[in-house]
Amino acid sequence: MASSPVDVCVVGAGPAGLTAAVAAATAGRTVALVDAGARPGGQFWRHSPAGIEADRALHHDFVKYRQLETGLARFVQTGQIRLLTRHQVWTIERGARFTVRALKAGEYERTVDAAALVLAPGAYDRQVPLPGWELPGVYTAGGAQALLKEHGVLVGARVLVAGTGPFLLSVAAGLAQRGARVVGVYEANTGLGWLHHRSLRAVVRNFGKLSEGIHYAGTFARHRVWYHPRSTIVAAHGDTEVRAATVARLTRHGAVVPGSERRIEVDAIAVGWGFTPQLELPVALGTRTEVDADGSEIVLVGDWQQSSTPGVFVAGEATGVGGAALARVEGEIAGYAAAWYVNVDHESASFHPRSRRAERRLSWLRKRRLTLRAFAAAMHRAHPVPPSWLDQLQPDTLVCRCEEVSVERLRTAADDLGVTDARLAKLLTRTGMGWCQGRVCGYATACLVARFAGTGYDPRGLTERPLAVPVPLGVLAHGAAPAVPADESWRGE
Ligand SMILES: Cc1cc2nc3c(=O)[nH]c(=O)nc-3n(C[C@H](O)[C@H](O)[C@H](O)COP(=O)(O)OP(=O)(O)OC[C@H]3O[C@@H](n4cnc5c(N)ncnc54)[C@H](O)[C@@H]3O)c2cc1C
Repeated sequence: MASSPVDVCVVGAGPAGLTAAVAAATAGRTVALVDAGARPGGQFWRHSPAGIEADRALHHDFVKYRQLETGLARFVQTGQIRLLTRHQVWTIERGARFTVRALKAGEYERTVDAAALVLAPGAYDRQVPLPGWELPGVYTAGGAQALLKEHGVLVGARVLVAGTGPFLLSVAAGLAQRGARVVGVYEANTGLGWLHHRSLRAVVRNFGKLSEGIHYAGTFARHRVWYHPRSTIVAAHGDTEVRAATVARLTRHGAVVPGSERRIEVDAIAVGWGFTPQLELPVALGTRTEVDADGSEIVLVGDWQQSSTPGVFVAGEATGVGGAALARVEGEIAGYAAAWYVNVDHESASFHPRSRRAERRLSWLRKRRLTLRAFAAAMHRAHPVPPSWLDQLQPDTLVCRCEEVSVERLRTAADDLGVTDARLAKLLTRTGMGWCQGRVCGYATACLVARFAGTGYDPRGLTERPLAVPVPLGVLAHGAAPAVPADESWRGE
């Protein structure tokens, strides 16, 4: 069903998209805010069926969420923002305007016609393979947290948390608060990485983040959770499900210290190695990308969050993984800029705030963005993925779990078939061709191909997915799905 045209369509209602929608509406534009989830908030403010208020203890920056929610409700009430929850955008067509095509419940279609876009699709967990990672009971850190926040489900009674990055603290604290025995947090790096001479300034300027760290330390002390820096998980064990994990200490260079391996009984493991930006929609619209400091492909944006595709603004994790505060700042800039873009002669004009107040606000936002980006860069320096995971792989360790492509098959492809990049590996071994379309194995495939072929690491080549989400074959065959029934309101709920 085609909907009445709007000025700005925002895809993603996480911290970035939610802020962008409210900003664009504040600037006087009509907005459609589309999200796959049942409620706005994204990954950071994920709601449980009992409501986000009931789980306040698991959420940070709750006051910000309340402010945004109030702003959103006000604009939804007046009809200036149309909120479309449970709608997955599967493609966007570009002409004089944009046609955003979204599926509701996987079967009905709704299209949104917009003059400008803000894309804020967020990120997903970055994973690397390890022997035994296909066993039931091995979760991504984000998956374990999502089950807890959204459904109140603990992934296990004895859970080991491993990987790298501050997100592990949040996951372990949440699990412990809700009754799991967290048998340890195995962090591959040390806090010393934050003291790098290029990071100190950023750390000092974001001193507030320290309070989060202190909060987690208190939770760990109360629940007797041990934090093991410079340590990692090297294997998961079990027959039909995970029963134990082997952990080990790491050297300064990220290699396993021989003889330091230790086996721990567990019934669940949560592993996270940072995040990978979700780029299907911006890449399909032709936006230029680059490789960020953490090895992720990200959308290249200018001062006003504008991408290389006219009318497409991008904010949040898709422009570089940097946390919710940065996502909000980028979202607000993108919202104002997209609102401005709607009514100008695009060839000649350059963005200019319309009032002194807006000018002051945008100038503050741009400074804040610089500070938060510097903090994100410090985080990437302090929490690199250590090379140890490559050394622990066995020839039969699966890299692509969907298509069951092993390490050995990738090595043979490099040696015998001349595979030199991730895209060729996909075509010749089927890695990344399954259900997840390389979202889980893409980073590992790029690293392994670089190692086996002796070429440089390049994650691009696996993110080009013409369809952003799975689509029923009928939609592709007929060019459209049945329209959302007319009696369904625009408000999504
Ligand atoms: C599983 C997970 C858990 C996380 N938990 C935390 C945490 O507890 N603390 C923390 O500091 N950081 C967390 N992060 C990092 C987090 O991504 C950022 O801090 C913050 O949420 C980024 O905001 P964002 O708006 O860029 O993206 P997100 O919050 O990820 O929001 C993106 C939104 O876009 C929607 N979307 C994406 N694609 C489509 C599509 N095709 N159609 C319709 N909607 C779409 C998604 O449903 C989502 O609501 C988590 C990340 C992940 C992946």
